[in-house]
Parts: sequence; structure tokens; C-alpha cells
Amino acid sequence: MFENLSDRLGGVFDRLTKQGALSEDDVTAAMREVRVALLEADVSLPVARSFVKAVTGKATGAAVTKSVTPGQQVVKIVHDELIKVLQGEGEPDALRIDNPPAPILMVGLQGSGKTTTTAKLAKRLKDREKKRVLMASLDTNRPAAMEQLAILGTQIGVDTLPIVPGENAVQIARRAKQQASLGGYDVYMLDTAGRLHIDQVLMDEVQAVRDVANPRETLLVVDGLTGQDAVNVATEFDAKVGVSGVVLTRMDGDGRGGAALSMRAVTGKPIRFVGLGEKMDAIEVFDAHRIAGRILGMGDIVALVEKAQEVLEVEQAERMMKRFQKGLFNMNDLKNQLEQMQKMGGMQSIMGMMPGMGKMAKQAEAAGFDDSVLRRQVALINSMTKKERANPDMLQASRKKRIAAGAGMDVAELNRLLKMQKQMADTMKKLGKMGKGGMLKQAMR
Ligand code: GDP
Repeated sequence: MFENLSDRLGGVFDRLTKQGALSEDDVTAAMREVRVALLEADVSLPVARSFVKAVTGKATGAAVTKSVTPGQQVVKIVHDELIKVLQGEGEPDALRIDNPPAPILMVGLQGSGKTTTTAKLAKRLKDREKKRVLMASLDTNRPAAMEQLAILGTQIGVDTLPIVPGENAVQIARRAKQQASLGGYDVYMLDTAGRLHIDQVLMDEVQAVRDVANPRETLLVVDGLTGQDAVNVATEFDAKVGVSGVVLTRMDGDGRGGAALSMRAVTGKPIRFVGLGEKMDAIEVFDAHRIAGRILGMGDIVALVEKAQEVLEVEQAERMMKRFQKGLFNMNDLKNQLEQMQKMGGMQSIMGMMPGMGKMAKQAEAAGFDDSVLRRQVALINSMTKKERANPDMLQASRKKRIAAGAGMDVAELNRLLKMQKQMADTMKKLGKMGKGGMLKQAMR
């Protein structure tokens, strides 16, 4: 799927992983090669650029764990960044097909694999989700295309709307809608006509069909082999008819793969499925993790670094535990805790679970404590010096002003933070005194 890109990247990382320590020059040189590899794979220039920039930034500032080489760490960073570029923020949605009959509009250029993909998806919905699906071809210009869908329907055991000669696309869409309601179908799929190029007549027709069907999903089918062209097609279709997701076909070929990497970043639209062949089962839900794995082909290294990261986190947690047992709790500890809380999502719930902190949780709630507060508090701590974090009691009024200003906040907010740290430190001291961590150990569990 991404042979060329994988080979190119593999070469870059092979050279890196052999080295013990990684200099900034090494990273820069490697990233130059990564950039060339991306461009050769037909990734758009802005996407390649921002990709390289993000990786360089992270690779330079990364805390490298002892058990992996810096080169391996870079592989992991590239891997994570690939996932980000491929899927954007958040996890991909499932198809919205509740509220039967749910209309799915299939759009795309002629030859992109639209009809094949319509049938593949219908089969998937039928087999995996036990949905009753009705397919309709709206390609009145090409009777052969209508026939093709009917043949595929028979082959996969999915109903197609009977062909009535002389109807236009909008009439067929209306009939499909009616038939889907009357026939008790869960989903009906409209396979619109494609042209060789985007033109006004085509767009007008698709818009008219869209307005009749009011689709839950408008899936654009594009040929993955066409690289940046596929991305341009997606941009245009989205501007004219609105697209809810993209299906990239022909990803079984040894294409350059650039379309997959640029699609989300350029169009903002998620890739939902990839087509992997001509057979009716040759379709996969788009999975950024899997694709990133295929591009890099370095699953072992990624797993190794992930493991090392976990070990590091456990070590950190143990170190903190020891400090708490001694009744130590400075701003670094607080920062650590705040970041953990951010990760675990939610302050009150966590504090509420800790003996002795229930009251504070209530106070926090009363004070309108939410996750934006967590972020602000971390920003305040970040604007302190190392010494100040280790020993916040030393802060004078003038420094407080500077710290608050540095984080763009009021001194009052800093004071609240200091008070909170002090309360927590006091609690730690008390807990620490209650026998060798017995109580605390429970509290931290
Ligand atoms: P449409 O004009 O957009 O409806 O395109 P078709 O669905 O008729 O597909 C055109 C050709 O591409 C057919 O021969 C399909 O079998 C083939 N095709 C569709 N999807 C894929 C895919 O994911 N991989 C491969 N290798 N061929 C595909």
C-alpha cells in the first residue's frame, strides 16, 4: 500500500537507530529526508512541511527513556504524528444510520470505484450490522452502470431499486426514499452519476438529489492512486455538495499513498473506509493506527517505546509515592498531579476518591473548578523558576506578580494555587505521620 514511502522512511530510521545519542543535526538531516519521502509520495507541500516541523519540535524536546535509543524514540514520534495527520483530533465516527431508513449518498468521479464501493458497503452493513439495505443507481446517462449495480446486488444478496427507464436522478431518489420507507429498509444508498471531471451539470444534479434525500452520510469515493488530485476532488465536492466522509479506493495498489496523508489535513474531512481490491469484501474501516503502522512498518519499535514509556510512568509514580510518604509536596508534585488529573479527566472525581480530600473536592466544586482551571494552574507553575517550584514558600510579592503576569493571570489566581499546594502539603504531612504510608498507600490507590 505504501511500499515506496515505507522504504524511504525505513532507510532514514535505519541510519538513526544505530546511533547511541542523537544530535540536533541528526534530527534535522533525518527530517530533511522524511520531507523528501513525503513529497515523493505526493503528500501536499504544506502538510509535509507542518509534519516535519511537528516531529522536529517533539524530537528535540523529547524525554528519552533509558531503555530505548533516541532513534527509536524518533520512530515513535513520527508514528504518533502520522496518526494525527491521518485522523485529526478524536476518534473516527461510525456511519450514522440510525433512524431508518437512513439515506447514504455516494458521490465521486466516474471510474473512482463508486459503484463497487456502494455494493461493498451495502454488503458490510448487511453482514456485520444485520441491516436491510436498498441500493439505487442514479446514473441515467449510463444504463450499464445501473445494470452493474443490479448485478452486484444479486451477487451480494442486497436489493436494488427496479430500473424504470426515462426517470431522472431526482425522480429515482424520491422513489428510492419511498420504497425504503414502505419496504422497511434500514438504509438506502444512492449511487449518483459520475463524470470524468467535475462540472456544473454534475454538481447541480448531485445537489438536487441531496436536497430530496437529505442524506445522513454523503460519502465521497476517490481513487487513492491519484494522490493530490484526489485531495483536490475532495475539496471541490465538499465545497459544492458537502461531504461527511471520504472513501479511498485502490489502496491495494502500490500507490504513493500521499492522498491518505493529505486528505484530512487539507480537506478537514475524515477518511472513513479504504478500498483494497475488486472483490466485495475488499474494504476496511479506515484505521489511522493500522495505516501508520503500514507506512512505517516498524511496529516492534513503536511497541518497545510504548512499553518503555509505561515503565517510566510507573517509576515516576513510585518516586512520587516515596516523597509523599515523607510528607513532601511541592509545586513539581502538584504539577505532576494536575497533569495526571487532566489525563484522567476530572478533578472532583479523583479528589473525591482520596480519603481526607472529599472536603477539598467540594470546595473545588463550589469554586467552579473545571479542567480549564487545571490548565491555568499548570501554566502558572510553568512560569515559576526551578527553585520556586521546589520551595514555593519563598515567593515574595514582586515575584508573584511576575509569575502571574508571565502566565497571563491575576495574582489572586496564583494565591489560590499556593493555598491549594499548602493544603495538600499539610495533608501529606499528616498522612505521612500516620505510620509508614499505610493510610497514604490506600489513598493513592
Ligand atoms: P465508478 O465508475 O466510480 O462507479 O467505478 P466502478 O465501481 O465501476 O469501479 C471501476 C473499476 O475499479 C472496477 O473495475 C472496480 O472493480 C475497480 N475498483 C473499485 N474499487 C477498487 C479497489 O479498491 N481496488 C482495486 N484494485 N480496484 C477497484
